[in-house]
Amino acid sequence: MQAARGVLVLNAGSSSLKFAVVDPDTGAQRLSGIGESLGDSDPRVSWRCDDETGHLALDPGAAHAAVLDYLVGELLPAQPALRAQLIAVGHRIVHGGEHFAQSVLIDGDVIATIEDCAALAPLHNPPGLLGIRAARRAFAQLDQVAVFDTAFHQSLPPHAYLYALPYRLYREHRIRRYGMHGSSYRFVSERAAALLQRPLSALNIIATHLGNGASVAAIKSGTSADTSMGLTPLEGLVMGTRCGDLDAGVLIHLAESLGYAVAEIRALLNRDSGLLGISGLSNDCRELERAAGNGHRGARLALEIFCYRLAKYIAAYTVPLQRVDALVFTGGIGENSTWVRAQTLEWLRGLGYRLDSARNRQMRAGAEGAITAAGSPLALVIPTNEEWVIARDAARLVAAQE
Ligand code: AMP
Repeated sequence: MQAARGVLVLNAGSSSLKFAVVDPDTGAQRLSGIGESLGDSDPRVSWRCDDETGHLALDPGAAHAAVLDYLVGELLPAQPALRAQLIAVGHRIVHGGEHFAQSVLIDGDVIATIEDCAALAPLHNPPGLLGIRAARRAFAQLDQVAVFDTAFHQSLPPHAYLYALPYRLYREHRIRRYGMHGSSYRFVSERAAALLQRPLSALNIIATHLGNGASVAAIKSGTSADTSMGLTPLEGLVMGTRCGDLDAGVLIHLAESLGYAVAEIRALLNRDSGLLGISGLSNDCRELERAAGNGHRGARLALEIFCYRLAKYIAAYTVPLQRVDALVFTGGIGENSTWVRAQTLEWLRGLGYRLDSARNRQMRAGAEGAITAAGSPLALVIPTNEEWVIARDAARLVAAQE
């Protein structure tokens, strides 16, 4: 029997850093943890390793580097058996521009290219680079692999990825739509093929990744044909704190008529909008559902706009796919919110979707399966596992070198 192997997976968000040691063969996580509220007044780390758990308050203002110091300086050295299993470090990198259509082993050139792409994802690529540098220092003998959110969507055709802007902006500055959540889409589309017992190459899937960030993808024969996020993760669906699609004229109006500075517009669109901005209450779907149930009008309106926009995108993606074999819900909201799924399918009655309410109620907390009634086009809930995709890619690239 092969000895257990582990890949250290690092997933750096703008104010969080998730880490895990993932078995690339089974997806099992012996260690998992998260550093949250990084850069804020009360940053903290929590983790679980087998049956042990730990929580640590970091110094006010501490950010990604402090979490990495703790991980490589204290947590992993205290688990020598786990440390000894490590065969690689896998990094989730949000933006690879047009440079990466696949995961790659990290070297100096790759780092320089990720740096170049940082202008396209200023909140995400820099912490990803911090993670790469810290891991290279701490694990000099281990290969490092970059897995890009954008890579999966490099198959988009020009009519899907170009904005109707002067073409020179694309030619000279690579301003185009890139898409995100690629690892999640790879995982759920492969899982959908397994559940349907059909080859992925024969399937057309509309997948919705609904977490704090949210997007939709039209996946044709296992490749992305269209997706809702664009140059940055701002475009598309209503999200926890991001506005999604917006008339670009609003930005001009904010700047010209209301005197907003660029930094204020950035904060408004990324941090203060979406479910939080509409409801005036929270970006958390659970809290909004509770409040809407208690009559909070803003919470109800936020959830309604979220579902309506989502349903419109799903309907639009019948255009590139023509035939849709499965609609997939994933991400924290997609996997758990019976209300959001029911409301979204209600909007899609015109396309024939009919919910099976009992099945819909069963699909939560990691459950996987169909939520539609007999005779309806198929909608599935599939819990995603981006960490496993990253670990698998890292193990494959390391093995290919040997
Ligand atoms: P993620 O970014 O994938 O972790 O997803 C976070 C989102 O999932 C938040 O809006 C949560 O409120 C939402 N979520 C998690 N569990 C539930 C649940 N049981 N019901 C509704 N929303 C949930």
